[in-house]
Amino acid sequence: MTDPLVQLVGLTKSYGAMTAVAGIDLVIGKGEFVVLLGPSGSGKTTVLSMIGGFVEPTGGSVRIGGEDVTSLPPAKRPTATVFQDYALFPHMSVRANVGFGLYMRKVAKAERNRRADETLKLVGLDGFGDRGIHQLSGGQRQRVALARAIAVNPAVLLLDEPLGALDLALRRQMQEELVRIQKRLGTTFVHVTHDQEEAMSIADTIVVMNRGLVEDMGVPARIYRRPASLFAATFMGENNLLPGRVAAVSGDALTVETPLGRLLLAGKADLGGAVQVAVRPEQIYPAATAPENAASLGSARVCELVFQGTHWRARAKTGADGEIALLLRLPPEMQPAVGAEVALFARPEDIVVLSR
Ligand code: ADP
Ligand code: MG
Repeated sequence: MTDPLVQLVGLTKSYGAMTAVAGIDLVIGKGEFVVLLGPSGSGKTTVLSMIGGFVEPTGGSVRIGGEDVTSLPPAKRPTATVFQDYALFPHMSVRANVGFGLYMRKVAKAERNRRADETLKLVGLDGFGDRGIHQLSGGQRQRVALARAIAVNPAVLLLDEPLGALDLALRRQMQEELVRIQKRLGTTFVHVTHDQEEAMSIADTIVVMNRGLVEDMGVPARIYRRPASLFAATFMGENNLLPGRVAAVSGDALTVETPLGRLLLAGKADLGGAVQVAVRPEQIYPAATAPENAASLGSARVCELVFQGTHWRARAKTGADGEIALLLRLPPEMQPAVGAEVALFARPEDIVVLSR
């Protein structure tokens, strides 16, 4: 990581008996694009609001750039926020909206307008300064909200599900633009979403949240491939979870008894302990495409098939009584049939042993 910029220490927020954020320790590096990812109610907005100063923690602290800002109001923090509902001023022009933060900071009008126009250019709204907010589409309003936050040149830009109201195509486009803008400015972005695809598309670092706690944190590829918890394994994309029991431990290698056979896997767990074994649908191969070092997972009976262009999405049953359900992605050139028995393989390094 680069130099730490934002440090959350034991950050907690309770509303009476209800704990929204349950003691979070988090370090965000300077210039990082961090995404807080989690289901609705997991505490994402509350964390963001405590960084921005809109919600007062009931415990712990927020430091930005080495300074404890826990008791500072939003305007005294080096942060700016893009809210989910944009919160633009409908009676003001686009330029006045974008220049609003500069106005509050007593920047003179000419300079304010110059910076507003420059920022509008950056977000792809060159020449829109004189328009009224009501003359803009949803996507354009979103850009104005972004420009307004960027214009004050914050050290940390906080974005709370900013793309939530946009249709899918526009959301994808804005995801790319957010990354482009973030890299160009070098500003630290903390972005909240419940959409794992969005998180993977834009984040340098993903923080997976659940029930007010951090479940996992790291680069998207690591979280996807080697999730640290059961929650992270299932929230980030589709996964097959199978019950297992640790039959032998040797250093960092485990022998795990599973319904798909005895597997030699990397991981740490107690001898005799119950674990879950996670393997992604696309990392289970039929014999024809199995990598050289793949281990056998026995065979499964196909019970549902949907052709999806890049692959067949298949549901299959395995285990002694066919009680184990598997989700598979079979190669598009394969001609699988419902009812057929398919031999399955997976590389041990693609299989994750989870005990929490
Ligand atoms: P997210 O943004 O991940 O959907 P929030 O941070 O908004 O989650 O909320 C986390 C939890 O805290 C939720 O259960 C929510 O109902 C609760 N919560 C948030 N704000 C308040 C509040 N002002 N009063 C009471 N409970 C709240
Ligand atoms: Mg929220």
